[in-house]
Amino acid sequence: MSNRVVTRFAPSPTGHLHIGGARTAIFCWLLARHFGGEFYLRIEDTDLERSRQEYTDSILASMRWLGLDWDGEPVYQTQRTALYNAAVDRLLETGHAYWCSCSPEEVDAMREEARAKGLKPRYNGKCREQNLGAGEGHCVRLKIPAVGKVVFDDMVKGTIAVDISELDDMVIRRADGMPTYNMAVVVDDNEMGITHVLRGDDHVSNTPKQILIYEALGLPVPRFGHVPMILGPDRQKLSKRHGARAVIEYEQDGLLPQALVNYLVRLGWSHGDQEIFSLEELVSFFDGSSLNAAAAAFDPEKLQWLNAHYMRHLPLDALAALTTPFVHQAGFPQADEALVAQLAPLFRERASNLKDLATAFTPLLSDAAHVSYDSSAVAKALTEEGRAHVTGVCRVLEKLEVFDIANTERVLQEYVTDNALKFKQVGPPVRVALLGYMGGPHLPDVMAFLGREETVRRLEQASNMK
Ligand code: GLU
Repeated sequence: MSNRVVTRFAPSPTGHLHIGGARTAIFCWLLARHFGGEFYLRIEDTDLERSRQEYTDSILASMRWLGLDWDGEPVYQTQRTALYNAAVDRLLETGHAYWCSCSPEEVDAMREEARAKGLKPRYNGKCREQNLGAGEGHCVRLKIPAVGKVVFDDMVKGTIAVDISELDDMVIRRADGMPTYNMAVVVDDNEMGITHVLRGDDHVSNTPKQILIYEALGLPVPRFGHVPMILGPDRQKLSKRHGARAVIEYEQDGLLPQALVNYLVRLGWSHGDQEIFSLEELVSFFDGSSLNAAAAAFDPEKLQWLNAHYMRHLPLDALAALTTPFVHQAGFPQADEALVAQLAPLFRERASNLKDLATAFTPLLSDAAHVSYDSSAVAKALTEEGRAHVTGVCRVLEKLEVFDIANTERVLQEYVTDNALKFKQVGPPVRVALLGYMGGPHLPDVMAFLGREETVRRLEQASNMK
C-alpha cells in the first residue's frame, strides 16, 4: 500500500445515514486514520429531485455522533459542474470523447437490436467517427478502446477483470449539458487526491467505467475496494424490520455510538476472533486487509449485547450524561445528571440501552401515588401475609435513625430472623410495595435512594391495598 492514504465518504443526501453507509464511512475513516492520512466528505447531491439539505445535515450529525471526524469542509457536487465540464472538454479536445446526436429512442433501438442478437445491449458507436460538434440534443460520449480488458485489484474482492465488449461508449455529458455521475466521481476523486475508494459493492459495475475515464484523462487510478452489502438475519436483503435503519434511529433508541461502530466494523472485517475493540485498537489494527468478501448478516442481538457491554464499562459520569436526556424524555424533566448518576448503578447491569435504563428509573422517580403496580405481581406478593410483612418491615424502618443502605439491609435481615421467616416471604412483598413489580435492584439500594419518608409512604400504601 502506498504511504499516502486519502479516502472519502460520498453519501447522496436522499435520506438519513443508514447502517450500510455508516459502515462504509467507518471503513474509509479507519483506513485514513490508520495510515495517518486524510478523510474527506463529498455530498453527492446532483439528484436535485431527491437531494435535501436536511438529509445532508442529518448525515453530518450522524457522522459526528459516530465520532467520524473529517478533514476540511465537505465538498458538494452541485457546486462543481464547471470542473466536470472542463474535464469533458479536455476529453473532447484530446479525441477521447465525441459528440453524439442519437436520440434516446435510437439508442434504445440499438440496445434492442443487440439484445435480439444475444449480445450485450449497448450503444453501437454510430457517432464515434462522425466528428459532430455541439448542437441541440447532443450529448458527449467517451470513446472507449475497441478491444481489451479493464482489470483492477479490488481490496475486498481480489482481481476483477471486465472485457471491453461488456462496456460501451458511455455518456459523460448529457444533452442538457450536465456531466454524468461517473464523470463527476472521477473528476472529484482525482481532484480531492483520493488514493483509496472504498464503497458498497452496488458500485462495482461503475468501477471499470470510471477506470476508462481516468485512463482517457491520463490520470492515476486509485485503489478500489467494494464491500458487500449487509444482509438481514435471514440472509435476504436487509429490511427495515431487521435493522436496516438510520443511524439516527439507533441514537434515539439509546444505543452508544462506540457500540454501533464496534458492531458495524466487525460486520465485514475481523482481527482474529476479537469482538470488542476500542476506537484506538480499531485505528491501529485496520489497514484495509482482512475485509470480508462474503456478505455478513445483521444480528440485532449481538448489537444489543455489545451495547450492554459498553454501558457497563462507561465511566459513571459519562453514562449519566448520556442517559439524562432519555430520563427527561421518560417524563422526568427535573432529573439532573447527579441524580441520574445515583440511579444508573442500580440498573445498568440489566439494561441494554440508554432508553431502557432511563425507563427503569420510572418507579423510583415517580411519587408514591404514581407508582404503577403490576397486577400479577400484586396478586402474588401482596397477599394478606405479604401485606402483614410489609407493615412489619415498615414499623422497624420508620424507627431507623440513619436511613442508609447498611442500616436498611440490617433491619430487613433482623425482621426476617427475629420472626423466624425466610427472606423470600418478606423480600417480594416489600419489593412490589416499593417498585410495583417483581425484580429490580437490591432492596436496600432502593430504600436508601427513596429515603425514609418515601419508603414508609410506599410501604403503608401497599399495606392498605387489598
Ligand atoms: N453516492 C454514492 C452512494 O451513496 C457513493 C459512490 C461512491 O462512493 O463512489 O452510493
